[in-house]
Amino acid sequence: MNFETLKYFSVSSDLIRSTEKELKTAGKSGYELFVLWTGTISQEGFVTRSMHVPRQTSYKLNAGLCVRVDGSVLHELNRWLYEHQEFLGVQIHSHPSEAYHSDTDDAYPIVTTLGGLSIVVPDFCQGGFFSPGTVAYRLQPNGWAELGPSTFRSILHVDP
Ligand SMILES: [Zn+2]
Repeated sequence: MNFETLKYFSVSSDLIRSTEKELKTAGKSGYELFVLWTGTISQEGFVTRSMHVPRQTSYKLNAGLCVRVDGSVLHELNRWLYEHQEFLGVQIHSHPSEAYHSDTDDAYPIVTTLGGLSIVVPDFCQGGFFSPGTVAYRLQPNGWAELGPSTFRSILHVDP
C-alpha cells in the first residue's frame, strides 16, 4: 500500500471532536498522547473510519515528554486492521507547547507508509485541533516533509 498519490484525507467532525477530547484529557495530566486514524481508500482519497488510542506509556523526563507504544500493541493494531480491512493513514499527537516533528518523532513514527500523514497539535490541544500552531507532515521517500498551512487545510477534508 502506498498513499503517495492520495489527494486528500477525509475525517468526520465527530472524529475531530473525539480526538481533541483525548488529547486535552491527557494534557490535563501533563502527558502527550498519540491518536491514530484508520480507514479505507476511496478513489483519490483516504477516508477515516475509526479512531484508535493505542495503549501507550507516557514519560515525563527532564529533557521533555516522551511517548512509547509497545511492539505488541502495534501487532494487535495490525491484526485489527487486517480483520476490518482498514489501513493506518494518519497519526496525531500533542505537544506541551510548540508543535513540530522532533528527532524522536522523525525516527519513531507509528505511521510508516509512504504518503501517510502526521499531525502535531500544540499546547496539549487547549486551542483545539485546528489551532494556528498545528503542523502536518507527509512521509516522503527521504523523510517527513512539512506541509504548509494552506496545503494542510486543502488536504484534510472535514465532513460535517
Ligand atoms: Zn512530538
